[in-house]
Amino acid sequence: TQKLDLVFQHIRHFPDFPVKGIVFKDICPILKEPKALTAVIDLFEEHVRKNHPHTELIVGLDARGFLFGPLLAQRLGIGFILVRKKGKLPGPTLSVAYTLEYATAEVEIQADAVQAGQNVLVIDDLLATGGTLHAACELLKKQKAQVLGCLVVVELKDLGGAEKLPVPVFSLLQF
Ligand code: IMP
Repeated sequence: TQKLDLVFQHIRHFPDFPVKGIVFKDICPILKEPKALTAVIDLFEEHVRKNHPHTELIVGLDARGFLFGPLLAQRLGIGFILVRKKGKLPGPTLSVAYTLEYATAEVEIQADAVQAGQNVLVIDDLLATGGTLHAACELLKKQKAQVLGCLVVVELKDLGGAEKLPVPVFSLLQF
C-alpha cells in the first residue's frame, strides 16, 4: 500500500553498525517526516482495531518503543506504560534478566503498572532475535497481564525472533 511504501522509504540501512557484519536499520527518518509517522500509527491502529479490539494498554519497550507507543495508545484512547532497562524506574519494580549475544540485560516494570488480567499489546521499533520482546512478555506474565501480541515496525525475518515469542507478532515491514 501507499502507507507501507512511505514507511519503507523512511528506513535507512547502516552496514557494520554497531559492530561489523550487522546492517543496522535506522527508523529516525520516519520521525522526521510527519506523513511517514502518521502512516506508521495509522497502520498499527488499523491492525489493533481489527484484531485486538479489547486492548486496554500499550506497553512500550526502552527506548524506541517509547517513540511509537504513546502515539498509538492515544489514537486508540487507551493508556501507555513503560518497560525500561534496569535501574530507571522509581518505586517497587519487577525485573527479568535475559541474555544477549555477549552479555546479559535486564528489563524492568513498575509493580503497579498493569493489573492482573488486563489485555496488553507490546510495541518496539524492531524485532531481531526476539530476546527483548520475550523478556518483556515474561515480565508481563509475572504481573498476570494478558499479552495479546507484539507490534514492531521492522522484523528481521532471518533471525527467527517471531518463533521464540509466546504471542503473535505484527510487523509493518520485513527484511
Ligand atoms: P532483539 O532482542 O535481538 O530482538 O533486538 C531487538 C532490540 O534491539 C530492539 O529493542 C531494537 O531497538 C534493538 N535493535 C536491534 N537491531 C536493531 C536495528 O537494526 N535497528 C534498530 N534497533 C535494533
